[in-house]
Amino acid sequence: MAVNESRRLFLRGGRAPASEWRPPWTTEAITDQCTRCEQCIDACPEDVLFRGDGGFPQIRFTGEGCTLCGECARACPESVFDLTREAFPWRAVIRDNCLAQANIHCQTCRDACEPAAIRFPPKLGHVAIPEVAEDDCTGCGACVAVCPEDAINLVTQEQREQTHA
Ligand code: SF4
Ligand code: SF4
Ligand code: SF4
Repeated sequence: MAVNESRRLFLRGGRAPASEWRPPWTTEAITDQCTRCEQCIDACPEDVLFRGDGGFPQIRFTGEGCTLCGECARACPESVFDLTREAFPWRAVIRDNCLAQANIHCQTCRDACEPAAIRFPPKLGHVAIPEVAEDDCTGCGACVAVCPEDAINLVTQEQREQTHA
């Protein structure tokens, strides 16, 4: 993605184009290796995989997050998944429209985060504001759909660097 496009998406709170939303433990090489058999999609118990661009499997976080159960990887007859890789290249980033930043109590995202990567350090005279511990965030997306303000983006390291460039 071009720098300006990436920055624009980040600033307006958009997410990466659908073609970048690959299933866990996959790389850009998915289009070379995948036969589009859809066995990974059928195997996903969370229903986060779907038939996306060009018929290749993609992931979406409009309902549930990925539990990293690995069923997709085990169902795939090709060499598309590699469980030794990091599952996702992105991390959760909380935007300015978070309710807590407007001094309205909300900790919904914390409750959804299984690895406890979202913390709410006490803030004197203000409701606690969420912070994402990047090292603990797996990029699972479980916090995204539960946020009542749609205030959470999943952003790659590359996109973060471009935004701060
Ligand atoms: S199971 Fe493997 S080959 Fe089949 S659609 Fe999924 S990634 Fe592609
Ligand atoms: S769920 Fe959304 S609005 Fe609530 S604290 Fe988390 S980021 Fe803020
Ligand atoms: S994407 Fe990160 S912060 Fe959000 S629920 Fe998953 S691990 Fe927690």
